[in-house]
Amino acid sequence: MNTHQLVDPFGRRITYLRLSVTDRCDFRCTYCMSEDMQFAPRAQILSLEELYAVADAFIGLGVQRIRITGGEPLVRKNLLSLLQRLGQREELDDLAITTNGSQLVEMAAPLRAAGVRRLNISLDSLQRERFAAFTRRDKLDQVLAGIDAARAAGFERIKLNSVVQSGRNDDEVLDLVEFAIARGLDISFIEEMPLGSVVSHSREQTFCSSDEVRQRIEQRHALVRSSKVTGGPSRYWQVVGTQTQVGFISPHSHNFCGDCNRVRVTAEGKLVLCLGHDNALDLKRLLRAHPGDGERLRQALIEALRLKPERHHFATDEQVQVVRFMSITGG
Ligand code: SAM
Ligand code: SF4
Repeated sequence: MNTHQLVDPFGRRITYLRLSVTDRCDFRCTYCMSEDMQFAPRAQILSLEELYAVADAFIGLGVQRIRITGGEPLVRKNLLSLLQRLGQREELDDLAITTNGSQLVEMAAPLRAAGVRRLNISLDSLQRERFAAFTRRDKLDQVLAGIDAARAAGFERIKLNSVVQSGRNDDEVLDLVEFAIARGLDISFIEEMPLGSVVSHSREQTFCSSDEVRQRIEQRHALVRSSKVTGGPSRYWQVVGTQTQVGFISPHSHNFCGDCNRVRVTAEGKLVLCLGHDNALDLKRLLRAHPGDGERLRQALIEALRLKPERHHFATDEQVQVVRFMSITGG
């Protein structure tokens, strides 16, 4: 089988797949979903077998890193059986999950045993009422217990993800950094992206740039640029004298498309070539028309890569609201 065939017209090699396993979630974060979010009918969601077939095709074409996401991936029934299969694939350098942390008390150890190496856990506030306002669920204690369970389970790295909003949690940036340092975790601060329309707040008013966040941290800690490159929107800095790296995910204020190495597959089997564009290839149709035909699937992926856009336009006048929600695309 030929590997490393996933190269787009701009010479970027695709080595990283973000695979969404569900659009459902037990939280309703205000920047991500409405309270009465309509989820896709179950029949529209890829089966675990189909998800594995997609991952297998990408691995066959040179993908070395897979991140499982959602929705909330840990609400997907029997997810462990998929992870166990992926965990055995030696071609993968990394198998990671992004989670809201609500199920980690029970799931952390089994995830690690299945071969998951790294976890990203979302945490926007350490204050109970604020956390409940962000997520529309009063579950901070459960998530904090989940973070402890993840630390005990021995993952290679655990990173917190915090969306920062001006006037809502920007005053907690230093508290979140201290929380991460005290536990030897990394933390990324995320600029909110215009994905899906939200009713709870005005994104222009709550926008907080990564530069502002970094300045807040530098009031207390020295940061040095880290050599870590992800081929994604994160830029990393080491907090001097600690084990903690701080990342900034800045789709607005910094363009990161030039070295983009990733594509996404939604829970409904849409191959999304760029988070900022709506063009997508329907892999589910192909999978269901030709079950078990891995070669056809690989060819379709190679051809689809020709359509990968050069860049997103989140920060320019050309920007149109992208209608998909992050929970659908897979964060
Ligand atoms: N449910 C899991 C979680 O919350 O970690 C995984 C999926 S979630 C869509 C992945 C990440 O996307 C989370 O860290 C979340 O904070 C972030 N996210 C969701 N909507 C966003 C938006 N509009 N802008 C920026 N980040 C967003
Ligand atoms: Fe669920 Fe994650 Fe979206 Fe929050 S950000 S609603 S936890 S999918």
